[in-house]
Amino acid sequence: MRGAMASYDLICEDCGNSFEVFRQGFLKDEDRVCPECGSTDVRQKFSSFLSNLGGASASSGCAAPSGGSPFG
Ligand SMILES: [Zn+2]
Repeated sequence: MRGAMASYDLICEDCGNSFEVFRQGFLKDEDRVCPECGSTDVRQKFSSFLSNLGGASASSGCAAPSGGSPFG
């Protein structure tokens, strides 16, 4: 498996910084460190899962409300 790099999306629970780690194989504990604040309270993000659960702080995107009443 030489050269098989996997990318992991991680997010810091401390400062909210999200970053990506490239690792050959599985993620190691030493990878779970926030490059911003150095916290080890880092968790792995999961792709396309909790997109529209509502309530979550909207990340950068083009979700502009089309002016008008929310009830159509
Ligand atoms: Zn952090």
